[in-house]
Amino acid sequence: MNATAVSLQQVTVLGATGSIGSSTLDVIRQHPDRYQVFALTAHSRIAELKALCIEHQPRFAVVNDALAAQRLQSELRLAGVATQVLAGAQALCDVAAHPDVDAVMAAIVGAAGLPSAMAAVTAGKKILLANKETLVMSGALFMRAVHEHGAQLLPIDSEHNAIFQCLPCNYSEGLAPVGVRRILLTASGGPFRNSSYADLERVTPAQACAHPNWSMGQKISVDSATMMNKGLELIEACWLFAARPEQVEVVIHPQSVIHSLVDYVDGSVLAQLGNPDMRTPIAHAMAWPERIDSGVAPLDLCALARMDFFAPDLQRFACLRLAIEAAQAGGSAPIVLNAANEVAVAAFLRGDIRFTQIPQLIEDILGLDVVNQVQSLQEVLAVDQQARQQANSWLAKQKIHVGVSS
Ligand code: NAD
Ligand code: MG
Repeated sequence: MNATAVSLQQVTVLGATGSIGSSTLDVIRQHPDRYQVFALTAHSRIAELKALCIEHQPRFAVVNDALAAQRLQSELRLAGVATQVLAGAQALCDVAAHPDVDAVMAAIVGAAGLPSAMAAVTAGKKILLANKETLVMSGALFMRAVHEHGAQLLPIDSEHNAIFQCLPCNYSEGLAPVGVRRILLTASGGPFRNSSYADLERVTPAQACAHPNWSMGQKISVDSATMMNKGLELIEACWLFAARPEQVEVVIHPQSVIHSLVDYVDGSVLAQLGNPDMRTPIAHAMAWPERIDSGVAPLDLCALARMDFFAPDLQRFACLRLAIEAAQAGGSAPIVLNAANEVAVAAFLRGDIRFTQIPQLIEDILGLDVVNQVQSLQEVLAVDQQARQQANSWLAKQKIHVGVSS
């Protein structure tokens, strides 16, 4: 083995077939001298996963069910690829925590990404966290596990990666001790920033998924359109940067070039700018504290010409208001918010509810929650399951109601 091979970092990419997964593999592809793919995971796009295995030759691949795993295993053998194919949720945790892994990209979407992200942390890995739902659901437990197990947590969400770059390194005891007044969390405002409430009622899934600046998976695209994404990010920022909800201010910035800012008590405001391309935060986190090329074009300020800023409208974008309220309530409230949102977004994408019913469902389910402190991962998952059941009952009643009235 030569010296270069010894220094190669072994990377597991959880959610390899998704938007963040493919941007990650794009960065890895540009730096074969630094990174080697250890494991790749996917839920449903098995043909894409097969192509990725042929290209990256990982030690392991993980899919959802055993039958798909068997089929992929024999296809890879026929193609002369030695990858071992595993199946199921435990296998996701195993490839995240494997002793030979150095870094884990947590890019599964939704609550499904929580156990494997936690497994990477408890194994003390370098964790590149894209899955914001993990922190929304289990922020206190997750941050405690990061410290207890000596994991290295690097934020991938572009805003949080920007804040991380603008903060001094010793912020873990809170913002005030390091002279930070507040965090300014920028938001594009999504595709319906200027739409009236009447227009929002008629929004289709295709319109909601067409984000003006970012190309992303369906769930986060809808979250951006409702601005729930910014609400989840506010909660994410509180955990990552030991901030209180009132220390995080959301600012609409439609160009998505300033990825967020940090306001210091002396009046200095530091910002991180760049073209809206997730390969920048991914490359930053992967190489930190060094810098590597990401493949992103240099920012052309003269072509950009202007940058605009607005305050968010919490009435039209009720999801953002609900997330701020859940952040302030703490305990089980963010878990309920997240679960109800996942059920509501899936129902909207199926065409079962209108866009404006997403916040209605969430508000009704949050109203059922008696906010409790949550002490373990089991309790987090139990609250999540209960909220999903309540949200599904809400949907079932809605269907009966629609059936009766139509
Ligand atoms: P995506 O829908 O494009 O990809 C999701 C990935 O997760 C896929 O590989 C899919 O196979 C896998 N997956 C889905 N359900 C699963 C399950 N039940 N079990 C195991 N694997 C499953 O999503 P994305 O846009 O890449 O987003 C991934 C995460 O990163 C989300 O939490 C999102 O909020 C966050 N994020 C995304 C972006 C972005 O630009 N796309 C930016 C910031 C943060
Ligand atoms: Mg973001």
